[in-house]
Amino acid sequence: MLRGILLELSESPAVASWVLRNGMSRRVARRFVAGEELDDAIAAARACNQAGMHVSLDFLGENVGSEAEARRVRQMYYGVFDRIAAEKLDANVSLKLTQLGLDLSEPLCEELLGSIVAHAAGHGNFVRIDMEGSPYTQRSIEVCTRAREKSSAVGTVVQAYLYRTEEDVKGLLAAGCRLRLCKGAYKEPASIAFPEKKDVDANFVKLMKLLLASGIYHGIATHDPAMIDATVQFAATQRISKDKFEFQMLYGIRTDLQQQLVRDAYQMRVYIPYGHDWFPYFMRRLAERPANLAFFLRSLVRR
Ligand SMILES: Cc1cc2nc3c(=O)[nH]c(=O)nc-3n(C[C@H](O)[C@H](O)[C@H](O)COP(=O)(O)OP(=O)(O)OC[C@H]3O[C@@H](n4cnc5c(N)ncnc54)[C@H](O)[C@@H]3O)c2cc1C
Repeated sequence: MLRGILLELSESPAVASWVLRNGMSRRVARRFVAGEELDDAIAAARACNQAGMHVSLDFLGENVGSEAEARRVRQMYYGVFDRIAAEKLDANVSLKLTQLGLDLSEPLCEELLGSIVAHAAGHGNFVRIDMEGSPYTQRSIEVCTRAREKSSAVGTVVQAYLYRTEEDVKGLLAAGCRLRLCKGAYKEPASIAFPEKKDVDANFVKLMKLLLASGIYHGIATHDPAMIDATVQFAATQRISKDKFEFQMLYGIRTDLQQQLVRDAYQMRVYIPYGHDWFPYFMRRLAERPANLAFFLRSLVRR
Protein backbone atom coordinates (compact mmCIF):
# COMPACT_ATOMS: atom_id res chain seq x y z
CA MET A 1 0.00 0.00 0.00
CA LEU A 2 2.84 2.37 0.93
CA ARG A 3 4.44 1.65 -2.44
CA GLY A 4 1.19 2.62 -4.18
CA ILE A 5 0.90 5.90 -2.24
CA LEU A 6 4.50 6.87 -3.01
CA LEU A 7 4.08 6.06 -6.70
CA GLU A 8 0.92 8.17 -6.81
CA LEU A 9 2.72 11.06 -5.07
CA SER A 10 5.54 10.73 -7.62
CA GLU A 11 3.09 12.11 -10.21
CA SER A 12 1.92 15.06 -8.09
CA PRO A 13 3.23 18.46 -9.29
CA ALA A 14 2.35 20.07 -5.91
CA VAL A 15 4.38 17.55 -3.89
CA ALA A 16 7.17 17.80 -6.47
CA SER A 17 7.43 21.57 -6.14
CA TRP A 18 7.45 21.37 -2.30
CA VAL A 19 10.15 18.70 -2.24
CA LEU A 20 12.26 20.41 -4.94
CA ARG A 21 12.29 23.63 -2.88
CA ASN A 22 13.53 21.75 0.18
CA GLY A 23 17.32 21.81 0.48
CA MET A 24 17.44 18.71 2.67
CA SER A 25 15.44 16.70 0.12
CA ARG A 26 17.98 17.71 -2.49
CA ARG A 27 20.81 16.44 -0.29
CA VAL A 28 19.02 13.13 0.37
CA ALA A 29 18.24 12.71 -3.34
CA ARG A 30 21.98 12.94 -4.04
CA ARG A 31 22.20 9.36 -2.79
CA PHE A 32 20.42 8.27 -5.98
CA VAL A 33 21.08 11.19 -8.37
CA ALA A 34 24.59 12.26 -9.41
CA GLY A 35 23.67 15.97 -9.36
CA GLU A 36 21.78 18.56 -11.34
CA GLU A 37 24.38 19.31 -14.04
CA LEU A 38 26.01 17.26 -16.81
CA ASP A 39 29.40 17.91 -15.16
CA ASP A 40 28.16 16.05 -12.06
CA ALA A 41 27.13 13.05 -14.17
CA ILE A 42 30.42 13.08 -16.08
CA ALA A 43 32.39 13.05 -12.81
CA ALA A 44 30.30 10.11 -11.52
CA ALA A 45 30.73 8.29 -14.85
CA ARG A 46 34.49 8.75 -14.76
CA ALA A 47 34.62 7.30 -11.23
CA CYS A 48 32.54 4.28 -12.33
CA ASN A 49 34.76 3.72 -15.39
CA GLN A 50 37.83 3.86 -13.17
CA ALA A 51 36.21 1.17 -11.01
CA GLY A 52 35.83 -1.07 -14.09
CA MET A 53 32.13 -0.34 -14.73
CA HIS A 54 30.30 0.79 -17.86
CA VAL A 55 27.76 3.60 -17.50
CA SER A 56 24.42 4.73 -18.88
CA LEU A 57 23.65 8.45 -18.44
CA ASP A 58 20.05 9.53 -17.90
CA PHE A 59 19.10 13.20 -18.15
CA LEU A 60 16.10 13.19 -15.83
CA GLY A 61 12.81 14.36 -17.25
CA GLU A 62 9.53 12.94 -18.47
CA ASN A 63 6.25 14.08 -20.02
CA VAL A 64 7.47 17.33 -21.62
CA GLY A 65 4.68 19.85 -22.28
CA SER A 66 5.71 21.42 -25.59
CA GLU A 67 7.43 20.66 -28.89
CA ALA A 68 10.04 23.33 -28.18
CA GLU A 69 10.94 21.59 -24.92
CA ALA A 70 11.23 18.20 -26.66
CA ARG A 71 13.51 19.73 -29.31
CA ARG A 72 15.69 21.26 -26.56
CA VAL A 73 16.01 17.79 -25.01
CA ARG A 74 17.26 16.46 -28.36
CA GLN A 75 19.93 19.17 -28.54
CA MET A 76 20.92 18.37 -25.01
CA TYR A 77 21.39 14.66 -25.88
CA TYR A 78 23.55 15.59 -28.88
CA GLY A 79 25.74 17.44 -26.39
CA VAL A 80 25.85 14.46 -24.02
CA PHE A 81 27.09 12.12 -26.79
CA ASP A 82 29.68 14.71 -27.90
CA ARG A 83 30.90 15.08 -24.33
CA ILE A 84 31.10 11.29 -23.79
CA ALA A 85 33.24 11.06 -26.93
CA ALA A 86 35.42 14.05 -26.03
CA GLU A 87 36.07 12.67 -22.55
CA LYS A 88 36.57 9.12 -23.92
CA LEU A 89 34.08 7.73 -21.42
CA ASP A 90 32.65 4.24 -21.55
CA ALA A 91 29.03 5.40 -21.38
CA ASN A 92 25.83 5.25 -23.38
CA VAL A 93 22.53 7.08 -22.84
CA SER A 94 19.14 6.07 -21.45
CA LEU A 95 16.16 8.27 -22.29
CA LYS A 96 12.39 8.33 -21.98
CA LEU A 97 10.09 8.76 -24.98
CA THR A 98 7.76 11.11 -23.08
CA GLN A 99 10.83 13.35 -22.73
CA LEU A 100 10.86 13.49 -26.54
CA GLY A 101 7.19 14.44 -26.82
CA LEU A 102 5.44 11.03 -27.02
CA ASP A 103 2.44 12.59 -25.23
CA LEU A 104 2.27 15.38 -27.82
CA SER A 105 2.82 13.60 -31.13
CA GLU A 106 4.21 10.19 -32.03
CA PRO A 107 5.74 11.41 -35.35
CA LEU A 108 7.55 14.20 -33.48
CA CYS A 109 8.87 11.72 -30.93
CA GLU A 110 10.06 9.35 -33.68
CA GLU A 111 11.76 12.15 -35.56
CA LEU A 112 13.65 13.28 -32.45
CA LEU A 113 14.56 9.75 -31.41
CA GLY A 114 15.73 8.94 -34.95
CA SER A 115 18.11 11.89 -35.01
CA ILE A 116 19.47 11.13 -31.52
CA VAL A 117 20.07 7.48 -32.53
CA ALA A 118 21.82 8.63 -35.75
CA HIS A 119 23.99 11.01 -33.70
CA ALA A 120 24.83 8.20 -31.25
CA ALA A 121 25.64 5.82 -34.12
CA GLY A 122 27.97 8.47 -35.58
CA HIS A 123 29.96 8.18 -32.34
CA GLY A 124 29.70 4.36 -32.34
CA ASN A 125 27.43 4.70 -29.31
CA PHE A 126 24.00 3.44 -28.23
CA VAL A 127 20.61 4.75 -27.04
CA ARG A 128 18.49 2.80 -24.56
CA ILE A 129 14.78 3.67 -24.45
CA ASP A 130 13.68 3.35 -20.81
CA MET A 131 10.26 1.75 -20.33
CA GLU A 132 7.66 3.97 -18.65
CA GLY A 133 4.21 3.11 -17.22
CA SER A 134 1.78 0.83 -19.08
CA PRO A 135 -0.03 3.61 -21.04
CA TYR A 136 3.24 3.87 -23.01
CA THR A 137 4.25 0.19 -23.35
CA GLN A 138 2.77 -0.57 -26.76
CA ARG A 139 3.81 2.74 -28.32
CA SER A 140 7.34 2.49 -26.90
CA ILE A 141 7.78 -0.98 -28.36
CA GLU A 142 6.46 0.13 -31.74
CA VAL A 143 8.65 3.26 -31.84
CA CYS A 144 11.70 1.23 -30.80
CA THR A 145 11.05 -1.51 -33.35
CA ARG A 146 10.76 1.05 -36.18
CA ALA A 147 13.94 2.84 -35.01
CA ARG A 148 15.72 -0.53 -34.82
CA GLU A 149 14.85 -1.18 -38.48
CA LYS A 150 16.97 1.88 -39.34
CA SER A 151 19.82 1.46 -36.85
CA SER A 152 21.23 -1.12 -34.46
CA ALA A 153 22.27 1.72 -32.11
CA VAL A 154 18.98 1.57 -30.22
CA GLY A 155 17.33 -0.84 -27.79
CA THR A 156 14.72 -0.78 -25.08
CA VAL A 157 13.61 -2.16 -21.71
CA VAL A 158 11.18 -4.94 -20.76
CA GLN A 159 9.45 -5.22 -17.39
CA ALA A 160 8.99 -8.66 -15.77
CA TYR A 161 5.90 -7.54 -13.80
CA LEU A 162 3.72 -7.22 -16.94
CA TYR A 163 1.88 -10.34 -18.15
CA ARG A 164 2.39 -9.24 -21.76
CA THR A 165 6.19 -9.08 -21.57
CA GLU A 166 6.99 -12.64 -22.66
CA GLU A 167 5.22 -12.03 -25.99
CA ASP A 168 6.88 -8.61 -26.32
CA VAL A 169 10.29 -10.16 -25.72
CA LYS A 170 9.74 -12.73 -28.47
CA GLY A 171 8.83 -9.97 -30.96
CA LEU A 172 11.71 -7.72 -29.93
CA LEU A 173 14.24 -10.56 -30.13
CA ALA A 174 12.97 -11.43 -33.61
CA ALA A 175 13.68 -7.78 -34.54
CA GLY A 176 17.26 -8.21 -33.22
CA CYS A 177 16.70 -5.71 -30.43
CA ARG A 178 19.09 -5.37 -27.49
CA LEU A 179 17.06 -5.38 -24.28
CA ARG A 180 17.36 -4.44 -20.64
CA LEU A 181 15.34 -6.71 -18.37
CA CYS A 182 14.04 -5.16 -15.13
CA LYS A 183 11.20 -5.95 -12.71
CA GLY A 184 9.24 -2.72 -13.36
CA ALA A 185 8.96 0.44 -11.28
CA TYR A 186 5.45 1.84 -11.86
CA LYS A 187 2.07 1.37 -10.19
CA GLU A 188 0.18 -1.14 -12.34
CA PRO A 189 -3.16 -2.90 -11.68
CA ALA A 190 -3.40 -6.68 -11.14
CA SER A 191 -5.32 -6.92 -14.42
CA ILE A 192 -2.07 -6.35 -16.34
CA ALA A 193 0.78 -6.99 -13.86
CA PHE A 194 1.70 -9.70 -11.36
CA PRO A 195 0.80 -8.32 -7.91
CA GLU A 196 3.02 -10.79 -6.00
CA LYS A 197 6.80 -10.41 -5.83
CA LYS A 198 7.33 -14.17 -6.15
CA ASP A 199 5.51 -14.19 -9.51
CA VAL A 200 7.46 -11.16 -10.77
CA ASP A 201 10.68 -12.92 -9.75
CA ALA A 202 9.67 -16.18 -11.47
CA ASN A 203 8.85 -14.28 -14.66
CA PHE A 204 12.14 -12.36 -14.43
CA VAL A 205 14.07 -15.66 -14.36
CA LYS A 206 12.03 -17.04 -17.27
CA LEU A 207 12.67 -13.90 -19.36
CA MET A 208 16.36 -13.77 -18.37
CA LYS A 209 16.76 -17.26 -19.87
CA LEU A 210 15.09 -16.17 -23.14
CA LEU A 211 17.39 -13.16 -23.34
CA LEU A 212 20.64 -14.95 -22.57
CA ALA A 213 19.86 -17.82 -24.94
CA SER A 214 19.17 -15.37 -27.81
CA GLY A 215 22.83 -14.68 -28.58
CA ILE A 216 22.17 -10.90 -28.49
CA TYR A 217 24.00 -8.72 -25.92
CA HIS A 218 21.42 -7.78 -23.25
CA GLY A 219 21.37 -6.10 -19.83
CA ILE A 220 20.07 -7.86 -16.71
CA ALA A 221 19.04 -4.95 -14.46
CA THR A 222 18.48 -5.87 -10.84
CA HIS A 223 19.89 -5.49 -7.32
CA ASP A 224 18.22 -8.71 -6.23
CA PRO A 225 20.87 -11.32 -5.28
CA ALA A 226 18.44 -14.15 -6.12
CA MET A 227 17.99 -12.83 -9.69
CA ILE A 228 21.75 -12.34 -10.05
CA ASP A 229 22.47 -15.88 -8.79
CA ALA A 230 19.91 -17.32 -11.21
CA THR A 231 21.58 -15.43 -14.09
CA VAL A 232 25.08 -16.50 -13.09
CA GLN A 233 23.98 -20.14 -12.80
CA PHE A 234 22.07 -20.17 -16.09
CA ALA A 235 25.00 -18.59 -17.96
CA ALA A 236 27.40 -21.14 -16.45
CA THR A 237 25.26 -24.18 -17.29
CA GLN A 238 24.63 -22.91 -20.84
CA ARG A 239 28.32 -22.01 -21.28
CA ILE A 240 27.43 -18.38 -22.05
CA SER A 241 30.60 -16.41 -21.41
CA LYS A 242 30.70 -13.40 -19.09
CA ASP A 243 31.26 -10.93 -21.94
CA LYS A 244 28.03 -11.90 -23.73
CA PHE A 245 25.71 -9.99 -21.36
CA GLU A 246 25.91 -7.37 -18.63
CA PHE A 247 24.44 -6.71 -15.24
CA GLN A 248 23.01 -3.25 -14.65
CA MET A 249 22.29 -1.42 -11.39
CA LEU A 250 21.22 2.06 -10.35
CA TYR A 251 23.66 4.69 -9.12
CA GLY A 252 23.93 4.61 -5.32
CA ILE A 253 22.21 1.23 -4.84
CA ARG A 254 24.10 -1.92 -3.76
CA THR A 255 27.51 -0.49 -4.68
CA ASP A 256 29.02 -3.42 -2.78
CA LEU A 257 27.32 -5.88 -5.14
CA GLN A 258 28.38 -3.82 -8.17
CA GLN A 259 32.02 -4.06 -7.06
CA GLN A 260 31.72 -7.78 -6.32
CA LEU A 261 30.42 -8.50 -9.83
CA VAL A 262 33.34 -6.55 -11.33
CA ARG A 263 35.76 -8.58 -9.16
CA ASP A 264 34.08 -11.74 -10.47
CA ALA A 265 34.79 -10.50 -14.04
CA TYR A 266 31.14 -9.83 -15.03
CA GLN A 267 30.22 -6.82 -17.16
CA MET A 268 28.59 -4.21 -14.91
CA ARG A 269 26.80 -1.04 -16.06
CA VAL A 270 25.73 1.70 -13.65
CA TYR A 271 22.70 3.83 -14.57
CA ILE A 272 23.55 7.41 -13.60
CA PRO A 273 20.65 9.90 -13.47
CA TYR A 274 21.22 13.64 -13.30
CA GLY A 275 19.27 16.84 -13.85
CA HIS A 276 16.86 19.19 -12.10
CA ASP A 277 13.78 17.06 -12.66
CA TRP A 278 14.74 14.34 -10.15
CA PHE A 279 11.53 14.13 -8.11
CA PRO A 280 9.61 11.27 -9.90
CA TYR A 281 12.79 9.18 -10.16
CA PHE A 282 13.57 9.77 -6.48
CA MET A 283 10.02 8.80 -5.42
CA ARG A 284 10.22 5.55 -7.40
CA ARG A 285 13.41 4.69 -5.50
CA LEU A 286 11.70 5.45 -2.16
CA ALA A 287 8.77 3.25 -3.18
CA GLU A 288 11.08 0.31 -3.85
CA ARG A 289 12.37 0.17 -0.30
CA PRO A 290 10.54 1.37 2.84
CA ALA A 291 13.90 1.84 4.61
CA ASN A 292 14.70 4.59 2.08
CA LEU A 293 11.51 6.44 3.04
CA ALA A 294 12.31 6.15 6.76
CA PHE A 295 15.79 7.58 6.10
CA PHE A 296 14.34 10.44 4.04
CA LEU A 297 11.73 11.34 6.71
CA ARG A 298 14.34 11.22 9.51
CA SER A 299 16.55 13.60 7.50
CA LEU A 300 13.66 16.07 7.13
CA VAL A 301 12.85 15.98 10.86
CA ARG A 302 16.53 16.47 11.82
CA ARG A 303 16.87 19.71 9.79
C1 LIG B 1 19.80 -0.14 -14.55
C2 LIG B 1 18.34 -0.12 -14.25
C3 LIG B 1 17.47 0.47 -15.14
C4 LIG B 1 16.09 0.44 -14.89
N1 LIG B 1 15.24 0.93 -15.84
C5 LIG B 1 13.90 0.80 -15.64
C6 LIG B 1 12.98 1.14 -16.66
O1 LIG B 1 13.34 1.56 -17.77
N2 LIG B 1 11.66 1.00 -16.39
C7 LIG B 1 11.19 0.51 -15.19
O2 LIG B 1 9.99 0.37 -15.02
N3 LIG B 1 12.07 0.21 -14.21
C8 LIG B 1 13.39 0.34 -14.39
N4 LIG B 1 14.26 -0.02 -13.39
C9 LIG B 1 13.75 -0.25 -12.01
C10 LIG B 1 13.34 -1.68 -11.80
O3 LIG B 1 12.18 -1.96 -12.55
C11 LIG B 1 13.05 -1.95 -10.30
O4 LIG B 1 12.04 -1.11 -9.85
C12 LIG B 1 14.25 -1.78 -9.39
O5 LIG B 1 15.43 -2.20 -10.02
C13 LIG B 1 14.09 -2.62 -8.12
O6 LIG B 1 13.99 -3.97 -8.45
P1 LIG B 1 15.15 -5.05 -8.15
O7 LIG B 1 15.29 -5.91 -9.33
O8 LIG B 1 16.37 -4.39 -7.69
O9 LIG B 1 14.52 -6.02 -7.04
P2 LIG B 1 13.76 -5.76 -5.67
O10 LIG B 1 13.15 -7.08 -5.33
O11 LIG B 1 12.89 -4.56 -5.71
O12 LIG B 1 14.94 -5.46 -4.67
C14 LIG B 1 15.93 -6.43 -4.35
C15 LIG B 1 16.92 -5.81 -3.39
O13 LIG B 1 17.62 -4.75 -4.05
C16 LIG B 1 17.83 -3.66 -3.17
N5 LIG B 1 17.07 -2.49 -3.68
C17 LIG B 1 16.17 -2.48 -4.68
N6 LIG B 1 15.70 -1.22 -4.88
C18 LIG B 1 16.32 -0.45 -3.97
C19 LIG B 1 16.28 0.93 -3.65
N7 LIG B 1 15.50 1.79 -4.33
N8 LIG B 1 17.05 1.39 -2.66
C20 LIG B 1 17.86 0.56 -1.97
N9 LIG B 1 17.94 -0.76 -2.21
C21 LIG B 1 17.19 -1.26 -3.19
C22 LIG B 1 17.33 -4.09 -1.83
O14 LIG B 1 18.42 -4.69 -1.15
C23 LIG B 1 16.28 -5.13 -2.16
O15 LIG B 1 16.07 -6.06 -1.14
C24 LIG B 1 15.62 -0.08 -13.66
C25 LIG B 1 16.50 -0.68 -12.76
C26 LIG B 1 17.83 -0.74 -13.05
C27 LIG B 1 18.75 -1.42 -12.08
